[in-house]
Amino acid sequence: MRPQDIQVIGEEMALKWDDGSEQFVALETLRRFCPCAACMGEKDIFGTTYRPPERPYGPGAFQLSGLHPVGGYAVQPAWRDGHNTGIYSWEWLRRLADAPAEGGGGCGSGGGGGCGHGHGHGHGHDGHAGGCGGHGHA
Ligand SMILES: [Zn+2]
Repeated sequence: MRPQDIQVIGEEMALKWDDGSEQFVALETLRRFCPCAACMGEKDIFGTTYRPPERPYGPGAFQLSGLHPVGGYAVQPAWRDGHNTGIYSWEWLRRLADAPAEGGGGCGSGGGGGCGHGHGHGHGHDGHAGGCGGHGHA
């Protein structure tokens, strides 16, 4: 699966995949999940990922100043705050696009009866019943 077309529309990136489906990823989400070593940390030999401390994002951090194709397998966005070392493979974009929106509760793929098996498990506390609004598209 690879995108045929990538456009930035407002604050979202629109991805058109070669099967004809379209997905949208918020630019803020893209930046927060920047896959470069500086943002995501590097794995040690045991597979443990060390994440750097959360840094405040500067002005323009969630705005693109450019988007450059990388070798037919990825794109490299340039952010307005000057950060441009993240290379987003198609797989990574797909994962971000498929991820439930933050705070969504992971009720997306239930199918029949509501909250059967989302991505996330139920957080343990049971007082929270109404989180399954979800959004319509698959
Ligand atoms: Zn980065």
